[in-house]
Parts: sequence; C-alpha cells; structure tokens
Amino acid sequence: MNYTEVPPLGDRGLILVTGGLGFIGSHTVVELHNAGFEVVIIDNLSNSSIDVLKGIEKIIGVQPAFVQLDLRDKKSVQDFFKTHTDIQGVIHFAASKAVGESVENPLLYYENNINTLVYLLQELQLKEKANFIFSSSCTVYGQAEVMPITEDAPVQQPISPYGNTKKIGEEIVKDVAKISSINAILLRYFNPIGAHPSAEIGELPLGVPQNLVPFITQTGVGLRKELSVFGNDYPTPDGTAVRDYIHVVDLAKAHVVALQRLISGKNTEKVEVFNVGTGKGSSVLEVITAFETVSDEKLPYKIVERREGDITIAYANTDKANSVLGWSAQSTLEEALASAWKWERKIRG
Ligand code: NAD
Repeated sequence: MNYTEVPPLGDRGLILVTGGLGFIGSHTVVELHNAGFEVVIIDNLSNSSIDVLKGIEKIIGVQPAFVQLDLRDKKSVQDFFKTHTDIQGVIHFAASKAVGESVENPLLYYENNINTLVYLLQELQLKEKANFIFSSSCTVYGQAEVMPITEDAPVQQPISPYGNTKKIGEEIVKDVAKISSINAILLRYFNPIGAHPSAEIGELPLGVPQNLVPFITQTGVGLRKELSVFGNDYPTPDGTAVRDYIHVVDLAKAHVVALQRLISGKNTEKVEVFNVGTGKGSSVLEVITAFETVSDEKLPYKIVERREGDITIAYANTDKANSVLGWSAQSTLEEALASAWKWERKIRG
C-alpha cells in the first residue's frame, strides 16, 4: 500500500470528514494528513469530545479545521456547502452506532443515520463531480453462510434498526450515484479495535462498552469487575463467537486509498464495495488470551448466556481490497490489543 498516487496539492480541494472526532474518523483524519490531504471535520460531539482535536494535533502537528454542526440540521448542511465550495471528497462516518439503543429508539437511528446521509447527498448531487465514501458494516451480511465472507455474499435483512440503517444507507448511495455525478465507495468494516500507537487518540465508549475490546481493557484497568463472555456453546472450535478484528489505523488507511481511487478516477463502477478486515477470525477466548499476553494481566471473566442478536462467526475475504485497492491490514491482533491497552491506561492514568 502506498500513498504515492495522490495528485499534487494544487489540484486538490478539501476532504470533508463527517464524524471526524469519533473513533474511526479521528484516525482517518491523521492518515489523510499523512497522505497529504487537507481536511475539514464536521462533528456534533454527540459521541466524542473536543479534546480529540488536540489529540490529532499532537500527532500531526497542526489542528485540522473543525466545524461543530449537527448534520440533522438540513439548513446548516446547505450553508456549510455554500461556504465550502472546494470539497473534493466526503468520508461520511457520522452516525449513531449502538445496536441495543437502536432497538429501543429506532427513530433516533433512522433520523441520525438516514437523514444526515440524505442531506449530504442532496448537496453532493449538485456538484459537477463528487467523491463519497460511506461507512458500512459487515452487519449487512448477517450470519453469512460461507466463510470468509466475500462482497457478493447476500445482504440479509438486518436484525437491528442500526443494521438496517447501514443496509438502507448503501441502497440510497447506489440510487443517487446512478442519477448523479457522485462516485462512491462503500466500505464494509469488520470489527475495528485499537488506538493510534501514540495513544493520543483512541476509542471513547460512553457508558458500558458494547464491544469486546473496550470491555476487556476497562476490566484490565479495574473499571469493570469482570468480562462477561456471551456463550461458549457456539459451533466454533472453542465454543465462543468469532470475529475479524482490524486495527483502526489499518482501517483508516483503507479510507485513504479508497479516496485516492475515486479522486484519480480509477473506479470501474459508480459504486464499489469493499470488505475491510484482516481475513482472520479470532474467538472471544483467543482475544482474551492475546490480551493477557500483551498486558501481562490476568483477565477475570465468566461465561454467561448468549446475547440476543449476536451471530456465530464473521470474518472477511479481503481479496478484493487487496488486489483492487492495493490495501491490506498490516497489524496483528496482539499489536492492536497492545495499542488499545496503552490508550486505556493513558486515559485512566
Ligand atoms: P463514533 O461514535 O466514535 O464516531 C461517530 C462520530 O459522529 C462521533 O464523533 C459523533 O459525535 C458524530 N456524529 C454522530 N451523529 C452526528 C450528527 N448528526 N452530526 C454530526 N456529527 C455526528 O463511531 P465510530 O466507531 O467511529 O464509527 C464511525 C462509523 O463507522 C459509523 O457510521 C459507524 O456506524 C460505522 N461502523 C463502526 C463500526 C465499529 O465497530 N466502530 C463497525 C462498522 C461500522
């Protein structure tokens, strides 16, 4: 993977990163800067802190442009594009992402994840040329029948409203790209974990973490008494659920190469889809063991009932991203866990 195909600065405009102070967005802002892009961030701070801006600055040496704005406010979105006419690409991370909360409050999710997408696309379809990257998820595959999962595996009816917003979001992008000058890439993330190696930015879950790794690291620092492992009777080698854990920095780099592909007009379809994972599945017990190795801590955990809605196994076939984008995940599970651990200790320090 390399960033050498970036056109010279003079030919490029700004890259808008929505949700750029969030977990994946902040790491992507750093990688965009490393690749020579200029960035403007939109975030409403609903699930992030303004301090992330300082963390990014510590890593890259400059503070990226930031506009605090709620993308649900259509007028604000219109005004933003009136004053920023040189947006050359948009990476759209901003969304609500808690699966459980989406079951309890579906309309919040449809409003935040669908309306914001519509308002952005309404502005982009007015442009002569627009490049758009959409944060999708492996959740659109549900429990796929064949492992590893390829991009042409059937998209299934999602279990949660959150998952449905990703499925519908993909369809909206495809429909709009068909009738406009928008070119788009849908990136289907597997399970992002870890933090920037500097530990200046990382994951900041509000309340009780829904994902395995923040729960592990919070248990490691003593914030949680013990980890609950949801089920050990799955049809997997050790009985616990298997996922494809990808280092967030690797995931961030996938956005940069995807954007470069659109900007340089190398895409072969108006909307392309790529899995972004490592291609390797790890069970919950394997993750615990790897964490214990890198942290030198014993992790207290107990086996409890399966959690409703959890699938058994999901890991990516990454051949398409490897060959077409020239991208592949570089970090091991241990490296990703070590970075998450370093971050957790720093923020609790
Ligand atoms: P995050 O919550 O850390 O980041 C999202 C950011 O968007 C936050 O900073 C939040 O304040 C902002 N935001 C939310 N609604 C907004 C609005 N209306 N206007 C402006 N800003 C708004 O989440 P993340 O983990 O970085 O995820 C980024 C994207 O990737 C999301 O679309 C998510 O659904 C998708 N995704 C995440 C995962 C994961 O496991 N983290 C997996 C697959 C897909």
